[in-house]
Amino acid sequence: MFVGPIRVAVKPRGPVRETKMVYRAPVADMLFIMTHAAGLTPDLYPDLSNGAAAAILDEAAKMAEGALAPLFRIGDTQGATFDKGVVRTSPGWREAYAQWIAGGWMGITAAEDHGGMGLPHLLNAACLDMWNGANMAFALAPLLSLGAIEALAAHGSDDLRQLYLPRLVSGAWSGTMNLTEPQAGSDLSALRTRAERTGNGAYAITGEKIYITYGDHDMTDNIVHLVLARLPDAPAGTRGISLFLVPKFLVGADGAIGARNALRCGGIEHKMGIHGSPTCTMLYEGAAGWLIGEENRGLNCMFTMMNNARLAVGLQGVGMADRAAQTALAFARERKQGRVPGDPAPMSAILRHPDVQRMLLSMQAATAAARAICYMTANAIDLSHRGETADIRRAAQERAGLLTPVAKAYGSDIANENASLCVQVFGGMGFVEEAGAAQLMRDARIAAIYEGTNGIQAIDLVTRKLSLSEGTAFRAEVARLRAAVDGLDAELSPRLMEAFDALEHAGGWLTARLADKPAAALAGAAPFLRLFALALGGVALAQCAQAEADPQGRWRGLARFYVFDMASHATALARGVVDSATAVLGASAWLEA
Ligand SMILES: Cc1cc2nc3c(=O)[nH]c(=O)nc-3n(C[C@H](O)[C@H](O)[C@H](O)COP(=O)(O)OP(=O)(O)OC[C@H]3O[C@@H](n4cnc5c(N)ncnc54)[C@H](O)[C@@H]3O)c2cc1C
Repeated sequence: MFVGPIRVAVKPRGPVRETKMVYRAPVADMLFIMTHAAGLTPDLYPDLSNGAAAAILDEAAKMAEGALAPLFRIGDTQGATFDKGVVRTSPGWREAYAQWIAGGWMGITAAEDHGGMGLPHLLNAACLDMWNGANMAFALAPLLSLGAIEALAAHGSDDLRQLYLPRLVSGAWSGTMNLTEPQAGSDLSALRTRAERTGNGAYAITGEKIYITYGDHDMTDNIVHLVLARLPDAPAGTRGISLFLVPKFLVGADGAIGARNALRCGGIEHKMGIHGSPTCTMLYEGAAGWLIGEENRGLNCMFTMMNNARLAVGLQGVGMADRAAQTALAFARERKQGRVPGDPAPMSAILRHPDVQRMLLSMQAATAAARAICYMTANAIDLSHRGETADIRRAAQERAGLLTPVAKAYGSDIANENASLCVQVFGGMGFVEEAGAAQLMRDARIAAIYEGTNGIQAIDLVTRKLSLSEGTAFRAEVARLRAAVDGLDAELSPRLMEAFDALEHAGGWLTARLADKPAAALAGAAPFLRLFALALGGVALAQCAQAEADPQGRWRGLARFYVFDMASHATALARGVVDSATAVLGASAWLEA
């Protein structure tokens, strides 16, 4: 039975008005995790001392709650449109974007030389968490711009950087990432878009790209596409791919916008979710492009962008997971069914039923754990730039590489799990669109697919990251986990040690199989990634519990729930890596025609 829209009363922060689906940015929890589990220390982050981090996150929370969250439903019900070649965003999107860039939020991590603030990735991680919790479809536009900024800053020529970076960093122009083609999704070696030298330093780009997020829209004056393409004399496969900057409008030396480039949006997709984000087919018809980095080395440059974007998608998952947890909790406080023994009222709030409590706690614990994993990945990126010695910076870079696939896949997986649990907590109302829980499920689904599917993330973890520096990065991470629980109380540490034993055993088995039976290692990759995430998340929450003044405090309860209930699957997952990997290969007869 539909019982009307859900209204959740919240304590307003600034101009926030009551909406059907409310998002509250959990600034205090974010700061707590940053400080106690992710390495926010004054020696690494002197620019964030004296409450600066808290002040910036408070401002971000006002933006997320006041400007972006109110457009969450509108983006779903009145999504982006395509009409006669023109893409228009949802009502209110342009104004919200203008407000967002006026706050300088695009340039948090960008270098000051390019108009950015030069602040740490860890701080931006919390901001990305908020933008996505407030409005994932909106937040995708800056997410792609951020990747373009990083790739251009790292690999672009001086001329390209001077011309484009200040405008991307201010948010006046947006950036996109053009990899996918109909025949080239996970496998980029199959891509066919052509780049021909024109003789004047530029290239002519021709081809079709699909699923390009914010490939066209009406929020900025220009759009800077980063496009993977092949030169006529390029070697086959991934070693023959180059990266080009291809603007929607050509740009004069002074930055003035000129003629339209030879590219257009051929249409947008009708999707399951994130309707507010236009997903475009992009047609390049001899468009002028400029090389980024060296010819045939484009995939290396694009990896700068993809790694950044992968962590950002993990954070997108965390934001959505948090939103789902908040939505379910608010509903469970209001909805009454059944009677809990001892309750004087004839009906109890469903929040009081232990099975509902289990669902709600699963959502809260998974969100906090995934948040910690993403934030520690951001911290490793910061340390790779800010570390005192070259050795520290190199080790941090490897740690960031090791953790990135875990951050992306775990963050986006738990977004899906939380969204599904949220629908479950709503009961039948969860299945009714107007209630809003269904949108969470539809929107969150894509995060496990794009930026490299979560299957590809697991394969990356096992085939490339486990063997980094001959296994040094993985061994260092396990040693770090063990050291972190050494000295913790006797309640959590034995269970966590079991999880580390399982992780080490599975990691060793996979490394051996990569040498003698790679298919078995690939079949066990997904459970290994989950096992790794559970160990990392368990330690992070135990550290938060340890840091709490009250030994019976709220972090203690959450850590205990995560370690006893969720991380207890670690040993079974390790068995799954070893046994069921072999079992997958042994059951192939079921998959034959
Ligand atoms: C809404 C949306 C937005 C997107 N935005 C962008 C964008 O901005 N820019 C862009 O370039 N692309 C974008 N994409 C494309 C996205 O990155 C791809 O869809 C994704 O990488 C998967 O590629 P695919 O769809 O071709 O699936 P496939 O590669 O065909 O994969 C299908 C299945 O096979 C599995 N698989 C494939 N290869 C292997 C393998 N070697 N080993 C094991 N399993 C494998 C996959 O994990 C998956 O489960 C977007 C897609 C969507 C839907």
